Amino acid sequence: MEHIYLDNNATTPLDPCVKKAMNPYMVDIFGNPNSQHEFGTATHQGINTASDQIYHYLNIHENDTFVMTSCATESINTIHKSILFQFLNQKNKQKNKVITSSLEHPASQKSLEFLTQFGIEIVKLPEKHDSIEINDFNTIFDPETTLLVSLIYAHNETGVILPIPEITKILQKDNIPIHIDATQAVGKIPVNIQELGINYLSCSAHKFHGPKGIGGLYIKDNSFITPLFHGGNQMGGFRAGTLNTPGIVGFGKALELAVTNMDHLNSHTLSLTKELEKFLLSINGHIYGINQPRLPNTIFVNIPYIDHDYMAWHLNKHNIAVSTGSACTSYQKERTKSLVQGVRFSLSRFSTENEIDKTIECIKSLL
Ligand code: PLP
Repeated sequence: MEHIYLDNNATTPLDPCVKKAMNPYMVDIFGNPNSQHEFGTATHQGINTASDQIYHYLNIHENDTFVMTSCATESINTIHKSILFQFLNQKNKQKNKVITSSLEHPASQKSLEFLTQFGIEIVKLPEKHDSIEINDFNTIFDPETTLLVSLIYAHNETGVILPIPEITKILQKDNIPIHIDATQAVGKIPVNIQELGINYLSCSAHKFHGPKGIGGLYIKDNSFITPLFHGGNQMGGFRAGTLNTPGIVGFGKALELAVTNMDHLNSHTLSLTKELEKFLLSINGHIYGINQPRLPNTIFVNIPYIDHDYMAWHLNKHNIAVSTGSACTSYQKERTKSLVQGVRFSLSRFSTENEIDKTIECIKSLL
């Protein structure tokens, strides 16, 4: 029976070309990259190629740092906890605020919540029209008291892209650092780190057809970083632990494939997203963030006369995998409140017209 996968914001299938690039490093070239002998040094070519790919395709300055982590959650936590240590080391504690939004993924939300028990104040920008507004930011922002701004770049449920370049412009005047959770953006839209003017960025390879278990953390100025893991001197001392060579190779290859084919792949994905969107609008579906800049692969829809849990259940029963929110909250007893109530369709470059047609037919059977 055909299975249709439209839950690519939860995770993506591994691209066969990525798997091919990783294969030698899973079996034959298995050495520990830190070993001095040939088994260790044999891994260096793969790691160096991946590093070149990452610096090139994210446009990272050669003097800046990119730490390979286990996932975006680890990257986000590394930045937030580094900010905590910065705060604790401050004598007068004058800078005590982190500005974020009410649209954050639990990885960011919970990690920031943890900081409050030590006296850090979390100030949330309100959600407006499924995004945030610069006016609200200007009202809230005080350079004298702000330690960090930490914002999601592209929303995992709605696909809405937040106005990060506008915010970095404001922050640069006062040299206030910004971290962006670009987990849903990297590989889906152009992410040019130097143009964005950000200080820290978190991402995860499994969101762009790379392997699971490997994430990335961009750091402009590493003098403020406190590692989560202490131990060996891997990753310049910013993240101890034996390197995940196949994962790193897979991250680099997946990023290269996503970025070099982005225009062509996005026009394919976007035309399918538009086809589905057109149908959903024709049956009076409300699509969140419809007037905002959005990822080319994401639709979050609420059809007022169909219960969204029932709709997702119906589609899943017919082997069409969709979700009703962030995968991180789906199995919690008490779900973190989603921004929106609805069904999320998240396509990928592997989605086909036939799959979208079948999805439309399946929704029609509910009407
Ligand atoms: N941030 C966003 C926006 C996400 O969508 C996700 C995963 O869904 C994460 C962070 C966490 O990513 P990971 O599970 O790879 O740590």
